[in-house]
Amino acid sequence: MKNTRRNLLKSSIAAGGILLAPQGAVAQAPAVITSRRFRAWVTRGRGQTTLQELTLRPIAGRQVLVRTEASSLCYSNVGAVLGLTSAAAAGPNPPAAAPKPAPAKPPAQQRAMIQGHGGVGIVEAVGPEVRRVRVGDRVCVSGTPQCGACYQCLRGRSDQCQFLSDQNFAVMGDMADGTPVYQNSHIGGMAEYMATYEEWVVPTPTQVSAVELAMVCSCVSVAGLGSTTSPSNYVESGSIVAVVGCGPLGLSAVQGARISGAARIIAIDPVAARREVAMKVGATHVLDPNAEGANLLQRIRQLASWPSNQPWGGGRTSGLGPDFVVEAVGAEAAEPRVERGPDATGVQAIQQAYQMCAPGGHIVTTSLARGNVTLPAVTFNIGGRTHHAGQAGGCSPMRDIPRFVAMLESGRYDAKSLATRVVPLDQALVAYEEVAYRTTVTAIMTA
Ligand SMILES: [Zn+2]
Ligand SMILES: [Zn+2]
Repeated sequence: MKNTRRNLLKSSIAAGGILLAPQGAVAQAPAVITSRRFRAWVTRGRGQTTLQELTLRPIAGRQVLVRTEASSLCYSNVGAVLGLTSAAAAGPNPPAAAPKPAPAKPPAQQRAMIQGHGGVGIVEAVGPEVRRVRVGDRVCVSGTPQCGACYQCLRGRSDQCQFLSDQNFAVMGDMADGTPVYQNSHIGGMAEYMATYEEWVVPTPTQVSAVELAMVCSCVSVAGLGSTTSPSNYVESGSIVAVVGCGPLGLSAVQGARISGAARIIAIDPVAARREVAMKVGATHVLDPNAEGANLLQRIRQLASWPSNQPWGGGRTSGLGPDFVVEAVGAEAAEPRVERGPDATGVQAIQQAYQMCAPGGHIVTTSLARGNVTLPAVTFNIGGRTHHAGQAGGCSPMRDIPRFVAMLESGRYDAKSLATRVVPLDQALVAYEEVAYRTTVTAIMTA
């Protein structure tokens, strides 16, 4: 069908009021005309989250409208969605119980906002400038963008793509009272639609279930697999790996280490249920930091003395430590209702991860900890450890997410064991509380 205005209008009527702009459409043609209504969880101020019916705004330019199939309920949004806090994670030496006055909210937090940052779904409309995907494509809406053209993307650091810090948020839709609604990180996810830009969209042509696809495409799994299987962070086969923290990110790192052929994978977490999942998905050893206490580093070094402790025969001494360490703990966003770790700020775990790593080894830090890290200066300077820091475990979305989907399709990545709670959209807040209190590994919302 030719792109005449008459035919575009016909398409609009066939699509229920939406005018889909085919590629190459003349610039003057309206991209989308719509009055489509949809449901979304909208946050208006910290913790003030309600289910609303919105009216979609027109899609234009490089925008991509994705009908959400499923979305991961990320722990990093607990504060914004539920308004919960953990006093213990306020800092290394939190002040005594005196309540603090609420800080003045910057304008971005006063906006009505759809929380979440990504998910999976089907493209329903594209703006006239979009090239990466077409209507009908199944896509992952990535937590980090990759434009392919900015300074960082051109230097192989698309995990730092400059679109990530773009604050020029577009209004996605309007509430019944006329309030304009934005989306967290340009993408949202806790809604029946995501109106994003092509920089955030990765084509994922696969038949796997929406829940499993949402799990493997979630920010945490992408970071866990990215930290262990991306070319810049590659775990050598036969190496010894420690993963500090077994939330969905750490459990994905355990799986990435297994997929990469690590000989030993030592998983560390205070929650017994999470240590069980770690063993199920690939850990060879698990440790409870509360039970080990001050002996934790020594225990890990003992476990890392493999294949022998004979340095004259190619082995390693028992003080050497793992070749590769992934840190995936982070600060508490709420007070957990399961076993609690030794440090609510997450800083101690970073320091321990650095110190347990073998000289000459690699450490990848991934978490959102709170506070300042202190390390022994001599070890830091001449200890030979290479520190990899980055968004999403240093993952390059367009390069790596299709690889992760292939790991899922081939059965090497176990998404089901991590998606321990699956709920429909209208029960998302109930599941979010379970995520907040750590009584589930993570949760997936289906729309
Ligand atoms: Zn996240
Ligand atoms: Zn870029």
